Amino acid sequence: AGPSAMVPRAAASKPPCKPAVFVPVDRSPEIQEARLKLPILAEEQVIMEAISENPIVILCGETGSGKTTQVPQFLYEAGYASSSGMVGITEPRRVAAVSMSQRVAKEMNLSNRVVSYQIRYEGNVTDETQIKFMTDGVLLKEVQKDFLLSKYKVIIIDEAHERSMYTDILIGLLSRIVPLREKKGQPLKLIVMSATLRVEDFTDNSRLFSVTPPVIQVDARQFPVTVHFNKKTPLDDYSGECFRKVCKIHRMLPPGGILVFLTGQAEVHSLCRRLRKAFPFQKNNTTGGDDDREESVEEMRKFKKSRRRRKVMTLPKIDLDNYSVVPVDEGDEDRDAESDDDVAGSDIDLDLGDGDSEEDEKSDSSLPLYVLPLYSLLAPEKQAKVFRAPPPDTRLCVVATNVAETSLTIPGIKYVVDCGKVKKRFYDKITGVSSFRVTWISQASADQRAGRAGRTEPGHCYRLYSSAVFMDFEKFSAPEITKRPVEDLILQMKALNIEKVINFPFPTPPPTEALAAAEELLIALGALKEPPRTGRLKQQLAAKLSCPISPLGRIMATFPVAPRYAKMLALSRQHDCLPYTITIVSAMTVRELFEEFDRPAVSEEETARLKGKRARLLQMQKIWAGQGPMQKLGDLMVMLGAVGACEYAGCTRKFCEENGLRYKAMLEIRRLRGQLTTAVNSVCTGANLYVDPKMKPPTEAQATYLRQIVLAGLGDHVARRVQAEELLDDKWKNAYKTALLEDPVFIHPSSILFRELPEFVVYQEIVETTKLYMKGVSAVEPEWIPALLPPYCHFGKPLENPPPSYCPETGRIRCHRPSVFHRVSWELPAVEV
Ligand code: ADP
Ligand code: MG
Repeated sequence: AGPSAMVPRAAASKPPCKPAVFVPVDRSPEIQEARLKLPILAEEQVIMEAISENPIVILCGETGSGKTTQVPQFLYEAGYASSSGMVGITEPRRVAAVSMSQRVAKEMNLSNRVVSYQIRYEGNVTDETQIKFMTDGVLLKEVQKDFLLSKYKVIIIDEAHERSMYTDILIGLLSRIVPLREKKGQPLKLIVMSATLRVEDFTDNSRLFSVTPPVIQVDARQFPVTVHFNKKTPLDDYSGECFRKVCKIHRMLPPGGILVFLTGQAEVHSLCRRLRKAFPFQKNNTTGGDDDREESVEEMRKFKKSRRRRKVMTLPKIDLDNYSVVPVDEGDEDRDAESDDDVAGSDIDLDLGDGDSEEDEKSDSSLPLYVLPLYSLLAPEKQAKVFRAPPPDTRLCVVATNVAETSLTIPGIKYVVDCGKVKKRFYDKITGVSSFRVTWISQASADQRAGRAGRTEPGHCYRLYSSAVFMDFEKFSAPEITKRPVEDLILQMKALNIEKVINFPFPTPPPTEALAAAEELLIALGALKEPPRTGRLKQQLAAKLSCPISPLGRIMATFPVAPRYAKMLALSRQHDCLPYTITIVSAMTVRELFEEFDRPAVSEEETARLKGKRARLLQMQKIWAGQGPMQKLGDLMVMLGAVGACEYAGCTRKFCEENGLRYKAMLEIRRLRGQLTTAVNSVCTGANLYVDPKMKPPTEAQATYLRQIVLAGLGDHVARRVQAEELLDDKWKNAYKTALLEDPVFIHPSSILFRELPEFVVYQEIVETTKLYMKGVSAVEPEWIPALLPPYCHFGKPLENPPPSYCPETGRIRCHRPSVFHRVSWELPAVEV
């Protein structure tokens, strides 16, 4: 049974309400034909009636049913879109915003001036734009400038099931904006689109919508997918397991594309290389020696050996006519245990032997495999390849990360290989320490992945884990907002004058301790007005959770970067530091400027090449780090130098490739610098800043100011080297201590300051791999800390020597006071206060 508010299909039998307007669209016959195959076309009338009768509608439909590409077209045809009242669609992923706007423009035969997109760094929106795709972050910024979103007639929140933080907040805000627009007599329609039916957080939430919105379910024209579980779950080598599975599918099973889900870019590439070598697409693709072929021979040998060991067993074979999900009840597990031994990944019988089975005839091991990678950092033109038909007489095999789960639908997939894992960024709620971890996906994700196999015909999904493991997966993954630090979000909300954030209608509220940590940080940065320290502790705490924004906070909120970085920008008009801070902040925001060469190489030749490239990058980093006092700016100076050098060379792909820079990152930094320059000019009257892309290096004095500016923004990211007398044991050798963590932290080996070990440093972030490592490190002087970070220091009594003196300019008594750093009580030099 679906949600109570589900619109019955019988609604269609009501006399159709004629749309007042019909705007014709001139589609090509091929497009029209493809559209008619999409399940959502059959529901157009139901959807449009629900939208016309309700201010808010929730639309659920399987991925690929046509929600993203078709609903904007329905609205356009029904006259909802004009250049003064646009249809806006938000996507959690940039890839989707860009690719969907292009697809819709093409389907409607309209130019990108009319169907446009806007993402953080770029866009093609014009005065003529009527349908606008954007990331959810972009719309949130727009709410700040114009709370009622008066430019829009309809807002579609797409991919709501992903529960990205901005999407959640937008739904909360729109639950208030829609009634306000109604009152004003300029109604705004809200459509929330989701791939799964789990929408209770939106519908059964009295804080959110006063009237429960109708839920329309688009019947998926999904073909049955047979799900095959592994008998046993491999512990580590799921990538190798994927390789073996793809080989078996390709050798054994009838034509049809293969989609493999892996967790990261490096894995995707390494599997692509292995597969290309095992099933060469072109003769000259096999350059680089036979090692990989040997690998697959080795693979075969191992497999045969494993079969020999259990040759008396008859392995269960996939039943090509059984198009149902294998039930995962206990009984099934028992039967598996009975009929098979514990060799992982052997549910396709490779060595059919007798030659009397159907699969044997169909198997064709000579067919080349057309292997394509797909992940979000991949260049767009390479991403687009997956939508095109593979070359004749080849089998398509896409090796993808999670992007292929719901955002993009790849045509022609019949087999899905699901490793069951996803790489996710995890944050410590309080310290904000982040690490990428590979974890099990949710059951909902596993089902989404399986669904990709049944788009055009019945398909098969091979799960590289057992049904018992699947039963232990969470049903749905937790909303992002409950999992990460929220200071950026809280600052944005305060700028919208939402002071009692705790009362905001979040679809799922973030934990109170995360809210408290965010407010504390924003108070320390000066973005919020500090609450009075009087009254009971409980009152103090409540006051702390509802601090109003300060004038500095308002300035900070206009910059599209994290609050710590926004603070740096706000301080940088001094000493002409702005162009440098803008560059440093852009580089820190974009992240991962440098290529990583520590990926596994497949041949000795490649190992040598990677080694050469790494050496070249290290050499360049030394040059970019500057000389003398500039070197103390550390990794941030390297970032400045790298961006400057790259721009000097015209920011070409060639320069980036030769010097170990990531071309895409460099382009993003360039755009963000432009955008931040505009933002600075709009808040600092008279700044009239013009950023010369090829800025000259900072002076020594400027480099010192920059270190102070960075310290002022990263006050809670100060670390101090453990002193000789504090050395507890060997694990503290070369370690640093921070105010937030008990454990030792270290300067990351890739840092330019790795061997310098300054006494005090600030870091951009801590990542956890084998140890806790600081990245983006700069050296700071101890006397700056009490002077620049008073909220983090406790000050003692004024010193007798030098004696307090009267300052005629300020009319205040000047005195020196000793101080200690909060929580860790580091003694700091006495400063004048
Ligand atoms: P949903 O939003 O419901 O997941 P979409 O509207 O994204 O569905 O996709 C509908 C169909 O359009 C899918 O079959 C998909 O393969 C196709 N499609 C989407 N983008 C492109 C593209 N760039 N080129 C070709 N086909 C596309
Ligand atoms: Mg979609």
